[in-house]
Amino acid sequence: MNLVVPREIQPGETRVALTPDTAARLGRLGAHVTIETGAGRLAGFPDEAYAEAGATIAADVEAGMTIAADRQALLQGADLVLRVRKPPLTEVPLLKRGAFHVSLLDPFNEPELVRALAAQGVSAISMEFIPRTTRAQKMDVISSQANLGGYEAVILAARYSRKIFPMMTTAAGTIFPARVFIIGVGVAGLQAIATARRLGAKVIAYDPRPVVEEQVKSLGAQFLRLELGATGQTKDGYAQALTAEQIERQRAAMTQTCADADVVITTAQVFGKKAPLLVTKEMLAAMQPGSVVVDLAVESGGNVEGVAYDRVTVSGGVQLIGLANLPGRVPTHASQVYAANLAALVEEFWDPAAKVFAPRLDDEIIKGCLVTHGGRIVSERLADRKK
Ligand code: NAD
Repeated sequence: MNLVVPREIQPGETRVALTPDTAARLGRLGAHVTIETGAGRLAGFPDEAYAEAGATIAADVEAGMTIAADRQALLQGADLVLRVRKPPLTEVPLLKRGAFHVSLLDPFNEPELVRALAAQGVSAISMEFIPRTTRAQKMDVISSQANLGGYEAVILAARYSRKIFPMMTTAAGTIFPARVFIIGVGVAGLQAIATARRLGAKVIAYDPRPVVEEQVKSLGAQFLRLELGATGQTKDGYAQALTAEQIERQRAAMTQTCADADVVITTAQVFGKKAPLLVTKEMLAAMQPGSVVVDLAVESGGNVEGVAYDRVTVSGGVQLIGLANLPGRVPTHASQVYAANLAALVEEFWDPAAKVFAPRLDDEIIKGCLVTHGGRIVSERLADRKK
């Protein structure tokens, strides 16, 4: 079975779908692993490391071929494509009928791409749709990447802050710890709390899911309790969207906590929907000049009013960080865990006798994440959303 890892082509993407270690792991199963030249370079994995791990490098100079021609041949020969980002629409016609394509796919927002993959007869797996079950945890790229995003948000905030995070008592007097307010305590928020605490900050956090309070306290942070009426979570652990009135009450109640904070980090998401706008211009205006706001939800619409996508701007003296793809700022480790998630998926559904990736269609994990198969769109989640 030809397993292919193309170079990521989305601007700013630094991660790679397989590391040399995971390429070797899948090679041992009996897959023939081909890595497009340069695929791991930005993540710190040179071609030579993959070659040493037993992978073939699809070179761009072989037989005088252009890079584009080489990439075409690579994709046309693939039985299983592994990548980080969704394929561009223009590459879908190159994929073989019956081939598997595994990547982030953003299927709710990419109906045309999903239709094209179905029409091409490709079996596309969307890594966002891996179910949140104990068995599938090792394949959960949303969690593995959000965890690093939460870490990186704190490191960025510390970098831009004019203050240090820890308390210091010295002969020159006492420096009080920075105050960090974290809004949204899922995987990214929990890691942000842990990282800010490790740096010595005083952390307060809020999330509408009631189960979160204990987790926040166990990390040594304070939980901001707001009375918003009924809030809850879905069976997958995601937050239910709040009503417009609840969001309004939440904003009013958070205004003072934002104003008191040196750093605000927002991570609030509602699965499959635009992120809720939680920090308004008025709330920013009440913050101290020099304070820092990091919006981790910027890629799904943003939690903070006026944050510019993939940029750092200043509003009334407050520094607004809207940088995208924070896991991509630590691409070695982000690729290590992303690749481990993909390798776990491939191993789980590998047929050792035939030496092929052969997922069972009635398996709960595959029922969750397989979006197109046999010429049709098969995702129940996409169908449910259309209702
Ligand atoms: P997410 O990225 O969907 O959202 C981030 C956070 O934003 C969530 O905690 C959510 O409650 C919060 N949020 C939504 N609306 C908000 C609002 N108005 N104000 C403030 N916060 C708001 O969530 P996630 O990080 O993917 O994880 C959600 C939960 O699922 C976590 O508890 C996590 O531990 C759990 N989880 C379980 C598994 C598993 O069982 N295998 C895997 C991954 C995550």
